[in-house]
Amino acid sequence: MIAAVISLGGIGLAAAVALGVAAKKFAVEVDPREAAILEVLSGANCGACGLPGCSAYAKAVVEEGVPANLCSPGGQATIEAIAAIMGVAAEAMVPQVAVVRCQGDNRKAKNKFHYLGLQDCNAAQRIADGPKACPGGCLGLGGCERVCPFGAIEMTADGIAVISRDKCTGCKKCVAACPRNVIAMTPRTATVHVLCNSHDKGAVVRKYCEVGCIGCQICKKTAPGAYLIEDFLARVVYEEEQDAAPGIEKCPTKCIRDFALGYPEGSSFKAAESRPEPEHAA
Ligand code: SF4
Ligand code: SF4
Repeated sequence: MIAAVISLGGIGLAAAVALGVAAKKFAVEVDPREAAILEVLSGANCGACGLPGCSAYAKAVVEEGVPANLCSPGGQATIEAIAAIMGVAAEAMVPQVAVVRCQGDNRKAKNKFHYLGLQDCNAAQRIADGPKACPGGCLGLGGCERVCPFGAIEMTADGIAVISRDKCTGCKKCVAACPRNVIAMTPRTATVHVLCNSHDKGAVVRKYCEVGCIGCQICKKTAPGAYLIEDFLARVVYEEEQDAAPGIEKCPTKCIRDFALGYPEGSSFKAAESRPEPEHAA
């Protein structure tokens, strides 16, 4: 019995020594800058940097020289901290915010059929390209809301996604999750947006949505520099946004919105949240 215990103990000791030697021999040297960068990143693991998470980004900055200004949730403070760790100049990041380019909720936009399947946008889109008659309209089933790590998206009772400009960090997770390409990243300084994503001709849009862009060009005629019309869809020229107000007023379908004045109807987000430079992006 004693011999067996001694023998087992010996095997255990030998194994421990072998493991210790192997650990030393095969240990991978980790650059301390990697841990320091990980420390200053947001920890959201959101993928806004284009890498699978914060650890992968920290590693890529150190080992591959990936730029220090890709963590949008961290904002400028994080860029400066990473640049200091790496001993490089801090480059500015243009803060962005996501915008849902649609306000055609269940009261204002028609469906092709009554969808009773899984309450998920990607699942719904797989059935005959989704129930919404507008091919670019929000399906309202909250795929974007579920992936947002910052709680910046809510679904209104009438079924449309709305994004809080205050809470959005520009991580782009919602953009990747939306099967209808409804969500666009826009400069945070711009508050005027055309909330439509349909390139159909006006007569077609009118058949399925009360609040879609009909490509009538009235906005462009009223405020020539502030709007462009591409394939029957208007968009704001953000550099000229200060001249956009007459277009908002004259648009016959009211599809242009200034978020500085409030959020779409049905949202609980308040206009006061629409600060141009929230702290996390400063
Ligand atoms: S914006 Fe896209 S993901 Fe979000 S609810 Fe609408 S269709 Fe779904
Ligand atoms: S006025 Fe309104 S509906 Fe007409 S093109 Fe401009 S945004 Fe579209």
